[in-house]
Order: sequence, then structure tokens, then C-alpha cells
Amino acid sequence: MNLKNSKFFKRIQELRHFSKEKIRKDREKRTHVVRALDMALNEQPCLDREWFSPEQSPPLQPMSPRRRMKKTRCLKRRAAAGKQVGDNSPYYGPSSGENSPMPADEAKLQGFIQLNNKTYRVECPTRVLNPPMNVDEERPASETKSTICVSNSRYAMIGKISKTLGYKLVKESKMWNILWSDSFPGVELFKNMKRFQQINHFPGMIEICRKDLLSRNLNRMLKIFPQDYKIFPKTWMLPADYGDAMNYALNHKRTFILKPDSGAQGRGIWLTNDLKTIGPHERLICQTYINRPLLIDGYKFDLRVYTLITSVDPLRIFVYNEGLARFATNKYVEPTPGNANDLYMHLTNYSVNKRNSHYELCDNDDCGSKRKLSAINTWMRRHNYDVEEFWSNVDDVIIKTVLSAWPVLKHNYHACFPGHDKIQACFEILGFDILVDWKLKPYILEVNHSPSFHTNEQVDREVKRPLIRDTLNLVSTVLADKRQILKEDRKRVKQRLLKIRGDPPVQRPRLGGGTSKPKIDAQKGSPDAQPVDVEPEAEDHGPLAQQIAWEESHLGNFRKIMPPPDLSKLDYYTRFYAQSNQVSIFAETAASKKREDLARKMRIQIEEKKAKQQQMLNGKAKRDARKRHTVLLPRAVRERNRMNLFRLRENWSPGFISDAEERLRHTWLHMRAEAIRMLKITENRRYSSTDLQQSLRNWTPDQHGHGRLSASLPQLAARLRHQTCSIVSHLAQLQPHRLLTLIHNVLLKFVDSI
Ligand code: ADP
Repeated sequence: MNLKNSKFFKRIQELRHFSKEKIRKDREKRTHVVRALDMALNEQPCLDREWFSPEQSPPLQPMSPRRRMKKTRCLKRRAAAGKQVGDNSPYYGPSSGENSPMPADEAKLQGFIQLNNKTYRVECPTRVLNPPMNVDEERPASETKSTICVSNSRYAMIGKISKTLGYKLVKESKMWNILWSDSFPGVELFKNMKRFQQINHFPGMIEICRKDLLSRNLNRMLKIFPQDYKIFPKTWMLPADYGDAMNYALNHKRTFILKPDSGAQGRGIWLTNDLKTIGPHERLICQTYINRPLLIDGYKFDLRVYTLITSVDPLRIFVYNEGLARFATNKYVEPTPGNANDLYMHLTNYSVNKRNSHYELCDNDDCGSKRKLSAINTWMRRHNYDVEEFWSNVDDVIIKTVLSAWPVLKHNYHACFPGHDKIQACFEILGFDILVDWKLKPYILEVNHSPSFHTNEQVDREVKRPLIRDTLNLVSTVLADKRQILKEDRKRVKQRLLKIRGDPPVQRPRLGGGTSKPKIDAQKGSPDAQPVDVEPEAEDHGPLAQQIAWEESHLGNFRKIMPPPDLSKLDYYTRFYAQSNQVSIFAETAASKKREDLARKMRIQIEEKKAKQQQMLNGKAKRDARKRHTVLLPRAVRERNRMNLFRLRENWSPGFISDAEERLRHTWLHMRAEAIRMLKITENRRYSSTDLQQSLRNWTPDQHGHGRLSASLPQLAARLRHQTCSIVSHLAQLQPHRLLTLIHNVLLKFVDSI
């Protein structure tokens, strides 16, 4: 028989063919995937378009005709929609304020940056893009549009201004470029941020934004630099500094202002001459009252100076040239016991004074309870004050305040954003409250991390709208290419997942230029600090140089105060960077020791409370307390207690047990026995313990005194044999006094019957 012609052989051939085909297809599919991966991995990352210098620029890749057509189409569509290319989009360098030096084309920008105690001169070629004429240079709107999430802000104005600047409003769950939030976000959010994302808060800024932390930092700096840090009224944190404050009050006849340690809007503030009225355990901030403030038209006022920080390492601070002066609404008189309670006279908060009927709304610059800083400047010039010097002093106060928290800010930033190598992950608008005394000396009162952007009055609108606009223009969001970064990140993840061997993973440099370990110890607080090296800009400060150049060219109405333009000033501030370890300095002061003691006591109290709660939950409290009590008692007492207990046991007699109780117990026992039998826990059970007990109960002696049990004696013996274990286990279940009662009852019955 020819096998090759058989059906069976043909079928086998068919199957072989199928399986071969399947293997081939699988192989093809696999090669396709590997090739795709290879292609993805070999792709060249594109460079930042607007910031490469001509020498560094790579040759432009010729654009494919298809892509070119797509772009042309996109451009035409946009032109048809009447939208001028790059008109308001932040990508193209938006309109700045009048002061903004905006070069029309390429320009060399110079600046200094401060990095770990070294100063670098930065010279960066910048090119502010005009609306591009060449179609090839244009990108589709979807690629260029920056996005902002304002859902965590209660100020509608921020969203509106962002929209006009070309930002797209998105939800928090989307890939936003900027997240604008009124409150400090959690660490989780910081940690999960992508390299192109920015948020409007720095981690750790609370160090200067809470009254108690601000006073702690400023007091510490005052201790190290007593001549330089007289920028705030004398401050004590109660109750830790209670003794110091009382001492001061004894030797100086002063008025004090008392504030809750984390309060705001003038809540809970009062004035006093007598610190003895304060309890030694009250948590308050106590400050000497500046009783001769600068007055305008007889009213006290304070300044709200808006400050933008775009980077903490290197520190870059900008102050907005416009701001607000908030006036008290009753004419000022130095504090006396009679007027100390008049908050409309001594406090300048808007939230307090708006309630006064004398609150003045005015569209004119020279009147009203809220005025612009420019109006104050005009008033000062009119009264022959040196306005430039005054503002230089204000800038000094702001810089020193930020520097007091600089180590924490720097540490937190690097801890939260180790991989942010393209742009800064944070920027922050701070509201500095500055009080000016009659000698024109500015004092820092408070720093607000979320200054109000309510626009109730015309003056608010005139100040706050341009402030937001200029801030959004100044932050260097556009320097990070979202698509490119996402692509790089995806590639990195893919590499990690597929474990493709190749170059070892590249450590991303920090935006600070991959700075080495700080060498600030060498200059720890020393006034004769080494002169600052001025080095030509190193190549590895690329993204940072771009940021600096961007900021310098988009100042709007901001002025840069840190790093200061003057080199001698830069040297002066360098010494404040060199604060040694905060904790050790903090530990050295007497007040801080007390503070630590208090904190330790509080910690112990809290721990004890927690332990108690835990014990109560576990139901061990009484037992453990008794145990602890016994351990603590002297030996003689313990012995006496033991003897008493023994005597008690000796004289013990069982209590009365009602019939109902007994019946109930029987039912339970019966139920338990049934359950045991059903579950077959004990084998060969023929008689339950209840039977036995019943037998004992029903036993009555006959006339011969032998008695008659409900069961015969051999049966009983058998029962006893079989049931011993279960009876023992039953009896073991009973509480001791119940067991004794049972035996007692049975015996009594037995004796009675005899
Ligand atoms: P809050 O955060 O509650 O507004 P501030 O510290 O800003 O508290 O103080 C509220 C107001 O009290 C200030 O605007 C200022 O007018 C006044 N004030 C605060 N501290 C002093 C001080 N040391 N001397 C004089 N006035 C002060």
C-alpha cells in the first residue's frame, strides 16, 4: 500500500504545512516588533528650537513633503481663523510690559548666576521669535500650546489671563505644563511631576510663610549676623520664649503686639503693655509694636510687595514694581490703654478695615484705603524722600528673608525634583507685607504664599492682572519640549522593561548644571569669605543659561533683585548662603533648648495618650494597670495583699444561684453538647454530660439507703468511662465559682437525701 496516497499521510502533510506557516508568521511578527523598537531607540532627539546658538546648531533635517504639506495646511487653517501666528502664545515670547528689554532678533544676554558659593557669568545667545515668515519653521498649534490647570485656584482671573496668553486650560488629570494652586500641594504631587511641568509653589516655602517659622528663621539669622538682620521687629515665640519676653518687658517700656502663630487677616491680634496678662502656656507670637510708623494723611499703612521666585538653586528673585499700600481707616495715634483696642487704627489689613464705615473706595491714585505703590512713590518724591534707596532697602529685606530659609528650600527642591533638568519645576509669587517706620526703614511683618488675587476694586485689577500676566510670561515653561520629554521618558521606560543592553542609563544633569557637592563649609559665617570666583559660563549650564536668558528678556514689570546686578552686593549676600547646619545652631540657643524640651514633653504626652487608647481598645488597660501597680508597690504591702487574698479565698462561700440561671446554663450545655456531637469532635459519644448530671440530680435513695439512679450502675459506670473527658472539658469551661456552686449543690442534695 502506498502510504503517500493515504488520507492519513495527506492530513499530516496539511498539518505540517499549517504549523510551518504559523511559525513563519510568528517570526515575521517578532522581527517587525524588534525593528520598530530599534527604530524608536535610534531616533535622534530634537534640540530646543529657539535656544541653540548658531555654532551649536545641528544641520536642519530636510522635511518630508508630506509633513510640509500638513504644516502648510495647518497654517492656512489658522490664518483663516484670523489668528496671527504667535500673537499671544507664550511660545513666541509674549508681549511684555513697557520695561521689558525685548530684542527684535538675536541678542547676547549677560547675567550672573550663583551656584554653591560660586558666581558664574552667563552669556547666552537668545532669539525672541517674531512671527515666523517661513512655513518650515512653524509648528502646528497642538505642539506649541502650553497647558495650565487652574482648577485648584479660586481666582477666575488666572484662568482668563492664561487663556489670553495662549495657554490651554486643562484638568489636573491631564498633562499640564503649569499647575496653579492656592494651597501647598502634597509631596506626592511634587514627586510625580514630569520634567516639563511646573507648579506655583516651592516645597519648603512654609519656612517663611508661617509666622512662627519665619520668626524662628529670622531670629536664628539675627544671632549669626546681628548687624545685618535687623529687618524685623523683636519677636518671641510663646510659650518657649516666655521668660525672655518677660525679661525684655521688665527692662523696656514698650507696647507689644500679640498674634496667633499661624493666623492671618488680622484675626486674633491685640496690643498690650503688660505681658503678665498672658498665660505662660499660650501659643502666641509676641512682637514689639512699631509705634512710630510712616503716616500718609495721618493714616498708618503697610505695603504688599509681590515677589516672584523662579529658582532656589541658584536663587533668582524678582520684585514686581507695582503693588498695593493698604491703609488703616482711623487716624493713627500712638498706642495708649484707651485706643489699644481700636483695630481700625493699628491694623492695616483689608479684611479688618473693609468693615469700617470710613473705608474709602477711590479711583484716584492719591486717595482711598488701598493705593498703588506707584502712588506711594509719587508721594515720597513729593516729600523729598529718597525713593531709590527706600526700594533698595525693601529689596534687601526680601532677599534676606528668603535667604533665611534657603538651605531648606534648596534641600527640598533637590529632594523632590532630582530629574528636572530642562526647566525649573517651581515658581512662586509671594506677598511680602512690609511696614515702614517714620525713618523710612522697612520691616518684614509677614510673607504670604498665596496672596489674594481678588479684584474687588479698580486698584486691585490694575495691579493684579498685569502681575499674573507678567508672571506667566516670565516663567520659562516654553523651554521644555513636552513631546520630546514624554518621548524620552517613554523610551527610557521601554529600555528598562525590555532590559536592552546598550549604553548604561545616562544620569540626567541637574538644571543647576550638575553642581558638585557644596563647598560652603569653608566660608561658614565668616565675614572674610573668599572672593567669589567669576568664571566664564561653562557649557554644561545650558538649560539654566537658557532660562536666565528667557527671564532677562521677559521681565515685564518685574525687576530682578537676586542675583543683584551689582557685583559688590553679590559678594555681600554670599555670606548669608553660608549658614551652617540649621539644627545645630538652633540647638545652641537657650530658647531653642526650652522649645525642644516642650516639644519632647508634648511628644511623651501624646505617646502616653496613644498607648492608653490602644490599651483601652485591646481591653488590657485594667490588667496592665494592676500589674504596673503591683510592681510599684513595696514588698511588704505586696505580701500583706497576698495574705488578705488568701484569707478571702479561705472563707469563701458560693453565692446564690437562681433556678432560672441554672436552667439557662443547662440549656447552653445541652446546645454545646449537641454541637460537639454534630461536628463529630468526640467519637463514640453515647451519653452527654447533661445526662449524667440529670441522673445525679434525679438520684433518690431507696429504703436500704442504696439509692436509685435514673440509669443502672453498670450503665453509669459505662457513661462515666465514656464521658470523663467530655465532663472534664465541660467543667473546665465553667467559671470557677460556677463550678464550685455546681459541686456544692450536688453535694448538698446528696447530703440532704442521706
Ligand atoms: P495677619 O497675618 O493676621 O495679617 P500681620 O502680622 O500681617 O498679621 O499683622 C496684621 C497687621 O498688624 C499688619 O498689617 C500691621 O498693620 C499690624 N502690625 C503687625 N505687626 C506689627 C508691629 N510689629 N508693629 C506695628 N504694627 C504691626
